[in-house]
Amino acid sequence: MIRNTLSYARELDQKDLLKDYREKFWIPQHNDKDCIYLCGNSLGLQPKETKYALLNELDHWKEHGVEGHFKGEMPWMYYHQFLSEAAAKIVGAQKDEVVIMNTLTTNLHLMMVSFYRPTSTRYKIIMEGGAFPSDQYAMESQAKFHGFDPDDAIIELVPRTGEHTLRTEDIIQTIMTHGDSVALVMIGGVNYYTGQLYNLEAITEAGHAIGAKVGFDLAHAAGNVPLQLHDWNVDFAVWCSYKYMNSSPGGSSGVFVHIMHGKNPDLPRFAGWWGHNEDERFLMKKGFIPMNGAAGWQLSNAQILSMAAHKVSLDMFDEVGMDALRTKSEKLIAYMIGLIDELNRQEQRFNIITPRSPKDRGCQLSILTGNDGKQLFDFLTENGVVADWREPNVIRVAAVPLYNSFEDVYRFVELLGKYNT
Ligand SMILES: *Cc1c(COP(=O)(O)O)cnc(C)c1O
Repeated sequence: MIRNTLSYARELDQKDLLKDYREKFWIPQHNDKDCIYLCGNSLGLQPKETKYALLNELDHWKEHGVEGHFKGEMPWMYYHQFLSEAAAKIVGAQKDEVVIMNTLTTNLHLMMVSFYRPTSTRYKIIMEGGAFPSDQYAMESQAKFHGFDPDDAIIELVPRTGEHTLRTEDIIQTIMTHGDSVALVMIGGVNYYTGQLYNLEAITEAGHAIGAKVGFDLAHAAGNVPLQLHDWNVDFAVWCSYKYMNSSPGGSSGVFVHIMHGKNPDLPRFAGWWGHNEDERFLMKKGFIPMNGAAGWQLSNAQILSMAAHKVSLDMFDEVGMDALRTKSEKLIAYMIGLIDELNRQEQRFNIITPRSPKDRGCQLSILTGNDGKQLFDFLTENGVVADWREPNVIRVAAVPLYNSFEDVYRFVELLGKYNT
C-alpha cells in the first residue's frame, strides 16, 4: 500500500482502536461535510454527552433548589471530589494533589502567591521567552507586586540563533547560572507556539538543585502528553480543560499541588471558605484551617455547570486512558510528518519547527510557511480545514487522538500539496 493515498488512510482508520470515539463528538460542518478540525489545541470539540450532563444539573437545581448541595448522586457540596481522581490520572498525581476550580490564569496567580515568595536576594523567575501572553502578564505583574523590576526579575529562555526550540542543556545551564538568585522556575509543559514538549523532570531537578520552586503551565500538555507530576516532584502546576480536554469554552481549570506542600497547613495562600476544613465549613467560624491537599486552595463553591461539562470529558479520558491516547496520537502525528516529508521531497516548502521526536512533542505540529503563509492558511480555511494561524508565518495543527482520523490528516496534507503559489 502506498502511504499517500486515501485508501491507506482509511485502512489505518479501520484498524484504529479508538475510532468509535469520533462519533461521540459534534464535528463542525463545512459545505455539509465534516470539517478537518485540527484545532483541539485551542478549543476541543463538544462531546455529544455534554448537553445531557448540563441538563441533568439544571434539573437537579429545578427539583431541589438549595438542597441540591446535599442531595442526589453528585451533591454540589462535594462536587470537586467527583473530578479529582480522573484529573489526577491525566497528570500523574495522587487524588488529593489535584483540584478542579476557577480558570487557568486565576489559578496561576493563586499558585504564585504560595510558591513565588521572593526575598531581596532570591527573587528571579525563569520562564520561556515568548510565553503565552497571559503567562507573561502574570509573571510580570507578580514581580511588580513584590516590588521588583520585571526586566531584572524575569529571565527569559530563548532558543539559540537559527533554532526554533530550546535545548534542555541550555535551560539547565540558565538555571545553574542564575543559581541562588532564582525563586521560581515557571514554564509551559508544551510550548503553545512551537509545540515543543520540555523535559519537565530534568527541569524540576535542576530548579530544586539551586533551591528554587518549580511550576508548570500545562495548558498545552494536560490530556496531550504523558505526565508524572508527583514522581517528578513538581511543586505545582495549572492547566485549562477546554483545549485537549474538550470541556467547554472558558471551562474549569485544574491545579496540582505536590503533597509535600499540600499537607502543610502553614504554607501561605489566599484562602476562601471552600478551602476550609470541610467538616466545619458551615459552622462559619473564625480562623482558616485548610483542607489537606490541593483542595485547601479552593476559594469558592464549585461552578457546577462548567464542572459538569468537564466531568463528561474526564470520564471519557478515564475510560480510554492516557496510554491508549498517546499511542494513537504518536501514530497520527508520525503519519502527518511522513506525508509532509513526501510533499517536501521536491521542494522544501513546509518547515516543521516542532521537534520530530515524540519525546519532545505532543500532537501539535507548528509549520513555518513561506511568505505566502497567510494565503495558504486562507486556502485551507476555504477548503474546510480549521487550524490556527500565528503571526508572522506559522500554522499550528493538532490531530487529537479522541476525534481526529487518519483521513483528516491525509486530507489536510493533500490540501497543502494542492496549494499553488
Ligand atoms: C490557553 C492558555 C492560557 C489561557 O488562559 P485562560 O486563563 O484560560 O484564559 C494561558 N496560558 C497558556 C500557556 C495557554 O496555553
